[in-house]
Amino acid sequence: MEKVLVLGHKNPDTDSICSSIVMEKLAKHFGLDAEAVRLGKVSKESEYVLNYLGIEAQREISSVEDGQKIILVDHNEAAQSVENREKAEVLAVVDHHRISDFQTVTPLYYIAKPYGCTSTVLFEMFKQEGIEIDKTTAILMLSAIISDTLLLKSPTCTEKDINAFNELEKIAGIDAKEYGLAMLKAGTDISALSAKEIIELDAKEFNEKGKKFVVAQVNTADINDVFSRKEDISFAMEKEISDKNLDLFMFVITDIINTNSKIIALGKEKELVEKAFGKELDQDDAMMLEGVVSRKKQIAPPLLANL
Ligand code: MN
Ligand code: MN
Repeated sequence: MEKVLVLGHKNPDTDSICSSIVMEKLAKHFGLDAEAVRLGKVSKESEYVLNYLGIEAQREISSVEDGQKIILVDHNEAAQSVENREKAEVLAVVDHHRISDFQTVTPLYYIAKPYGCTSTVLFEMFKQEGIEIDKTTAILMLSAIISDTLLLKSPTCTEKDINAFNELEKIAGIDAKEYGLAMLKAGTDISALSAKEIIELDAKEFNEKGKKFVVAQVNTADINDVFSRKEDISFAMEKEISDKNLDLFMFVITDIINTNSKIIALGKEKELVEKAFGKELDQDDAMMLEGVVSRKKQIAPPLLANL
């Protein structure tokens, strides 16, 4: 039987790692010879999940052969996907993102729902098909939901994610809050990373109305822990600004316990941040944003609206 590769996005997060493993199980249930793979290194957070379950990370790949059958989870945009995807045959997509520039040659299953996590979409597929969810699968899905919704506290979290979380917690037989906090904390260990690595960990570039800017984000259990490296971080940000000719670099330190963020803004358009959030930057070029955790829903929109 022909092999089908199941893959999440580049720079894989816990949703991409866990949902691809879960999707492999689902695809096997439907008789496919599926194998979950990944497009980059396993994060500290995902490593915690895999160690907890005592399972190995999936094989890493960077490109696919012409005609390779693939299933995509947690993304659809070409820029975030595997090299040579345009020559592969996409059998299915299971996702929770906007759809942009997506084309295929052959018909496919395309399942997209505006939920907080891919695993919540997968959870509903298991229910729909009446497939039993074992403990390991439950913990994989639970971990993905915890990661994407910051333990249900992100504004991206929906009623569906909460329902899935509650049901999966029962199947898993664990205290999901306690487990989730430990998992999120494992992901915040940046002590071994350089300032440059920290600002590149989760950076997204925007190009709008002739302005070029980056919003980078890092999760932490203690903002001061990260902020104590402010000098090095600012230096790395300034270097990025001159190297990439950016108008603005915004670095967001998100407190996953209290669900707040402290941001540092540098670049000639840093007043844009003051306009967007109606607050002044302090002498450290920083400001506190209460209740702000989501780049997608709470940071990018006001910035873009004030360009
Ligand atoms: Mn993702
Ligand atoms: Mn996701």
